Amino acid sequence: MRNRFAVLIVFALAVSSALAQSAPTWTPPDPATKKLALDIFRQLIEINSTDSVGSVTAVSKAVQQRFLDAGFPASDIFLGGPNDRKENLVIRYRGTGAHPPVLFIGHEDVVEARREDWTTDPFQFLEKDGFYYGRGTQDMKESDAILVTTFLRLHQEGFKPDRDLILALTADEEGGKSNGVEWLLKNQPELMKAAFAFNPDGGGVELQNGKAISADVDASEKLYADYQLIVTNPGGHSSLPVPDNAIYHLADALQRLQNYQFPFELNAITRAYFEKLATLEPAQTAADIKAILATPPDPAAITRISVSPEWNSTIHTTCVATRLQAGHANNALPQMAQANVNCRILPGHSREEVRQELIRLFDDPKINVKYVDNGGGIHSGAPDSKGPPPVALQPEVMKPLEKLVAVYWPGTPVVPDMATGASDSIFTNAAGIPTYNWSAIELETNDVRAHGKDERLPEASYWKGVQFWYQYVRMMTSGD
Ligand SMILES: [Zn+2]
Repeated sequence: MRNRFAVLIVFALAVSSALAQSAPTWTPPDPATKKLALDIFRQLIEINSTDSVGSVTAVSKAVQQRFLDAGFPASDIFLGGPNDRKENLVIRYRGTGAHPPVLFIGHEDVVEARREDWTTDPFQFLEKDGFYYGRGTQDMKESDAILVTTFLRLHQEGFKPDRDLILALTADEEGGKSNGVEWLLKNQPELMKAAFAFNPDGGGVELQNGKAISADVDASEKLYADYQLIVTNPGGHSSLPVPDNAIYHLADALQRLQNYQFPFELNAITRAYFEKLATLEPAQTAADIKAILATPPDPAAITRISVSPEWNSTIHTTCVATRLQAGHANNALPQMAQANVNCRILPGHSREEVRQELIRLFDDPKINVKYVDNGGGIHSGAPDSKGPPPVALQPEVMKPLEKLVAVYWPGTPVVPDMATGASDSIFTNAAGIPTYNWSAIELETNDVRAHGKDERLPEASYWKGVQFWYQYVRMMTSGD
């Protein structure tokens, strides 16, 4: 996923040099850990796991071998999936059992990458000028590698967590028809049972010119839906036009959509998000934010806040025309006109509810509005299913996280957030496992290359991630 580093404008708190000097700081890993973490990262990048020609199973098996070599009992390792290219891996790291398990999920598949589009081979791991290059270095083999490293490192140290740690590395988040998280929850629910989960496929630290401006924890996400608008008509000769025209019907509907705003709505997470921003933004914006948080919210302030695409999408369900097709000849009245409308629905509302709202909006029986099932994965699902409610910010998760963010990125606010895209967390949340999207990966807001060409990760970002997760898992599960 990882598409949400875009427009968040946060003015970082100035940190006095005195504070920076006295604050504890992070240190890079020891040489042995560095070697291990880099070997794993390289190995994962160099196994092609695209849907077209790659194999998720090959990634799963490579990781499985590492855990067997490290002495994990075979009975604590599960490998399985719907077909031989889409096998998922689940590792159980046994703890004392004082608390229910915590789950970590990471998708192993990557978006297609063509050699001719890239400067270098996308499936060759390359270190250059302080970056690691390769498909999946941002989305999300870096985090898979970090989690694998963390588990192996803790195990080697003989660390006994106060609960089981479960790592699920899975298929088909980006595309394909065999979503691994969905498959595991359906076919191996006992393996996935956890009090809460982390998904590093979102969230993380936003950098602007090298300076950390916010540490985002996504604790909610919108629901994805495509709708097909279709108008049919008997057509006829274009020399004899009539008012009843398929293209005009569709154009009217799209114009209504263009001018329509879904109702303003906040939930626990987006409210917390804006409350935090109100303390960070310049005075005028802060006043507008306070005005939308008020009861009742100020409509003029909502309009001003909605100018930002990121904020607009945070406070509204959005629907937008993304594809258009009509007519069959230059000299014929159109027999068909159709459009795809892509919606991102706020938690608590269903696809069917939004479909009904579109029908009401168009107010034209000629427009047929149909929910499009995309046939599997995070972009699909039943029309009547609702987006799961936002996740509560539990202290056992947030306290150690905030403590460590203060060490790794001093002065940077931890901002709870709702992802405007979708991730595998849609399945774990729906299964009743509250899921936090948090990656501990820092990225420049203008260097997001996930899904794009020459995908790369700064070396420093990787090492911070490696150290952060190691310390974080220890802190969270040390029983104190
Ligand atoms: Zn992803």
